Amino acid sequence: MTEPDQLELSLESNNQALADAKIQEYLDQQNNIPLNIAVTGETGSGKSTFVNAFRGIDNRDERAAPTGCVETTLEVSPYPHPNYPNVTLWDLPAIGTTNFPADNYLKLVGFERFDFFIIISDTRFRESDVKLAQEIQRMKKKFYFVRSKIDSDLRNEEISQGSRFNAERCLQQIRDNCIQGLQRQGVESPQVFLVSSFDLHLYDFTLLGDTFEGELPAHKKHALLLAMPNISLEVINKKKKAYQSKIKYYAMLSAGVAAVPVPGLSAAVDVGVLVSVVTQYVNGFGLDILSLRRLTDRRGMPFRDLINIIVSPLAATEITRDLVLKVLLRCAGTAALMAAEEVFRFISVFGIPAAMILSFTFIYRALNYFLDTLAEDAERVFKRVMGLDTSL
Ligand code: GDP
Repeated sequence: MTEPDQLELSLESNNQALADAKIQEYLDQQNNIPLNIAVTGETGSGKSTFVNAFRGIDNRDERAAPTGCVETTLEVSPYPHPNYPNVTLWDLPAIGTTNFPADNYLKLVGFERFDFFIIISDTRFRESDVKLAQEIQRMKKKFYFVRSKIDSDLRNEEISQGSRFNAERCLQQIRDNCIQGLQRQGVESPQVFLVSSFDLHLYDFTLLGDTFEGELPAHKKHALLLAMPNISLEVINKKKKAYQSKIKYYAMLSAGVAAVPVPGLSAAVDVGVLVSVVTQYVNGFGLDILSLRRLTDRRGMPFRDLINIIVSPLAATEITRDLVLKVLLRCAGTAALMAAEEVFRFISVFGIPAAMILSFTFIYRALNYFLDTLAEDAERVFKRVMGLDTSL
């Protein structure tokens, strides 16, 4: 089911329970779409560090893929995203090792399960990388060439070139080198993404994310977006829009039958639904305590620095029923909960039963308000971490 298209019917026939079941099924499906990303390349090329950086995890974290100067990846190892376990990055052993000979590599790593492959190199791409790409293509899967450790190339060039150093020119040279090398080996119109796993917001990682998104089937895009690290204000905004598009369904569920009335307000609310939605927002924006700790650890900044700029009472804390109810109550009747046009459109299209309209409208507005404030916190955190915060 792509949209709860039978919702209208269920409501028209006054079958609230059926409508709720349809919505629940749709949301469960949306929230559990698996996405499996394979990361492969020579030993030492930076696979494990990339896998960790994508998941917002420091190389020293206990959940990190092991990294180092010696061969650390000997098996096909899954690394689920800490906040979205349905999104998994797989650290693959280098092609051509004893256990994973080139001839049988894709079969041995179980290529069917992967949505796409990232082929990493910290120098030029070798014959084995090209052969692998061709084989992946033959299996009707996508691959992306990533040139890693760009920060270190730039640093080295700067030392060697002194005052003549030009970062843009240097990046273009690395890109051209890789592309020409791939063309010489028979790859037609290759695209190479320059990345530093220590600074994902720089160079081509954003373009890489956009490219994945553009080429993934629609239902997988959502999973990718929510698991993407917050590398730009644009990513934060896209996440916000993705969450926004689902609010009407959650409001519908939460305003359903057998709900608790919010004291002081004639709205009945299923708080359990709200706890789960708010938890999704907080996790998706990386505003849970563990994500914030990981972020400050990676950036070498005090945890307090971020806590001090966070405004929403729902961020950086444990999301409980009591907390959500308390914040809901505080919201009731505030100017922030302005009527939204979409509420009325939704009510008229789906014909929500009159008894539910008040609860629905209230929850709809409240969720939008929660989402807005959490997205603003995510922006503040991003700006502070990137040093873009001018209020200091
Ligand atoms: P793997 O064997 O392909 O998994 O490679 P690792 O992720 O273990 O990385 C090998 C070494 O390269 C480690 O010392 C990493 O710290 C380093 N490294 C990985 N990615 C980067 C990067 O983007 N920039 C820099 N400067 N070093 C990196």
